[in-house]
Amino acid sequence: MPADLLRQVWGFDGFRPGQQEIVESVAAGRDVLAIMPTGGGKSLCYQLPALMREGVTVVISPLIALMRDQVRSLREAGVAAGALTSGNTEEESDEVFAALRDGSLRLLYMAPERLASGATVPMLRRAGITAIAVDEAHCVSQWGHDFRPDYLRVGELRRALGVPLAAFTATADAETRDEIVARLFDGRAPQVFLRGFDRPNIHLAFQPKDGPRRQIMDFARARRGQSGIVYCATRARTETLSAALNAENIAAVAYHGGMEADQRREVEARFQREDGLIVTATVAFGMGIDKPDIRWVAHSDLPKSIEAYYQEIGRAGRDGAPAETLTLYGPDDIRLRRTQIDEGLAPAERKEADHARLNALLGLAEAISCRRQHLLGYFGETAAPCGNCDLCDTPPEIFDATQPVRMALSAILRTGEWFGQGHVIDVLLGNATEKVTARGHDQLPTFGVGKAVPKGEWQAILRQMLGRDLIRPDPERHGGLRITAAAHPVLRGEEAVMLRRDLIRRAKPAAVIRTQVSDEDAPLLSALKAKRRALAEAQRVPAYVIFPDRTLIE
Ligand code: ADP
Ligand code: MG
Ligand code: ZN
Repeated sequence: MPADLLRQVWGFDGFRPGQQEIVESVAAGRDVLAIMPTGGGKSLCYQLPALMREGVTVVISPLIALMRDQVRSLREAGVAAGALTSGNTEEESDEVFAALRDGSLRLLYMAPERLASGATVPMLRRAGITAIAVDEAHCVSQWGHDFRPDYLRVGELRRALGVPLAAFTATADAETRDEIVARLFDGRAPQVFLRGFDRPNIHLAFQPKDGPRRQIMDFARARRGQSGIVYCATRARTETLSAALNAENIAAVAYHGGMEADQRREVEARFQREDGLIVTATVAFGMGIDKPDIRWVAHSDLPKSIEAYYQEIGRAGRDGAPAETLTLYGPDDIRLRRTQIDEGLAPAERKEADHARLNALLGLAEAISCRRQHLLGYFGETAAPCGNCDLCDTPPEIFDATQPVRMALSAILRTGEWFGQGHVIDVLLGNATEKVTARGHDQLPTFGVGKAVPKGEWQAILRQMLGRDLIRPDPERHGGLRITAAAHPVLRGEEAVMLRRDLIRRAKPAAVIRTQVSDEDAPLLSALKAKRRALAEAQRVPAYVIFPDRTLIE
C-alpha cells in the first residue's frame, strides 16, 4: 500500500534507499529518529505515513518558506495540508482551522514559535492530532549552529498529546543524536534509522590553498553554464569573488547574513529559477534551497566541521546526476577555526568535541587514500574505494616523514612553543633572520637541521602536522605552535608518520626576473613586486621573482 500511494500521490516509481523502512515504522506509530543525508528524501518519510494513519499529523518545521513549498506541492497532489505560520493571512488561518474542525485535514505544518502560545496545545488536543513529525530536528541542539529555542517546546507538546513522534535530521554525529533523544523523547529510546549516507554521484576533492582566488576561478571557469555554490568564510570574500566572476562574464551573485531579508530572498529565487548562476555565499545560504540540479559546490575556505562539510557539499547533485566539489584549506583556515572554537562561549568539554570534529575534517583533507571511505567511516559506514574522488583518480605519493616531523617537533619545543610556522621553518632551514638571531635561535642544535628539505615541503609538512593535530596554534600565545599529546609517541620514536607529497602543482612562471638584490633592500623589492603584479596582470598568468638563493616572491 505505501508503494501505491507513492506512485499515485507523488508519482515516484520506488523508494529511495532507507525510505521504506522509515515509512513503515512511522506508519506503525513507533517513535522514530531518522538520520538521512540532505536530499535523501526525509519529507516523504513523514508525509506518506500521515496518509496511511487516521487523524492529523503535526509537522514542526523551522522555515516558513519550506513549509509553504511543501504545503503547496502536497495540495497540488490532492493532499489536504495546511500551515499555521506568522506569514498567514487571516483567511488562510481560518481555512486551516475549518479543515481541522471538519476532520478533513491530514497534515498541519507549524513553526515551533507557535508552541509558545498557551492556546496552541489545547487547540491541537481538540483537533485530533495522532502523530508529530519534527523536521530539521537538530535545531533542538543548543550547541548546533541552527539552534532554535522554541524547538525545546516540542518535547512538552509530545507529553501533552501523548502521540508518537518522528524526528528527522541530516546531522549525524552521536552527540547531536543523543541531545535529540533527550529533549524530544525524554530519553526513551526511539527506533533509530541511520543510513544512506553515501552520495556516490558527488565527486570529492580537496586542495591545499595555493592562490585560492585563482583556484576557485579556474574551477568555476571550467564549469561555465552550470549552477554552483562557492562557500566562503567571510562576507567580504563572497562579494569580491562574485565581482571577479562577473568580470569574466560568469554570472554570479553574493549571499550572506548581512544582506536585507528581501535581497536574500531575491537571490534564492534567482538561483532556483536561473540556469548556470553561481552563488558565492556564507553558510547562511542553504537550508531553504531545494534545487535538484546544483552541479557543483566549492569551499574557498575550510568548513568548520566534517558535518558542516558534508551538509554543504550534499546540496550538489540531488537529482542523482554527476556533481563535483572542491574544498580548499590552508594553515590559516586551521588557525581561524581553532581560534573560533577556543574563543567561543561554549564550555570546555564542548570545545574539545568541536576540536575533534574539526580534526575529523582535517583528517579527511589530509587523507592519503579514498576520501569517501574516510567520510563514510566517520558516519559509521564501511565502503570500498569509491573511484569518484581525487585520491582514487590520482593516488598520492606517500613518504615516511617521521624524521622531518621529529625535527619540526623538536624545533618547536626548543624555541619554547612560542612561535608560528614561518619562524619554525626559518630555524629548520638555518635562516639567520633578525628574529632568529635576536632570540639566539641560531645557537640551537636544531638550527639548520632541515636545510636539505625545500621550504615549500616544510610548509606542506607543517600543514599536514596541523591537520593530524600533532601541533596546534595556542591562542594564549598569539597563535604560537604547541605540540599536542598526539605528538608524544612520535617524539619518543614509538610511532611513524606517513605523509603525502604535496599535491600543489605550480603553474610554470611565464617570465622570471633575475636580480642581485638582497631581501633587506625594501624599496627595490617593492618595485620588483609591482613589476611582477603588472606582468602577471597583463599576461593573465602567474609570474614570480626568483632571487639567487632561490627565494621566490609572488
Ligand atoms: P531532505 O529533506 O532529506 O533533504 P527532501 O525530502 O527535500 O530531502 O527530498 C529531496 C528531493 O528528492 C525532493 O525533490 C523529493 O521530491 C525527491 N524524492 C524524495 N523521495 C523520492 C523518491 N522515492 N523518488 C524520487 N524522488 C524522491
Ligand atoms: Mg528536508
Ligand atoms: Zn575514492
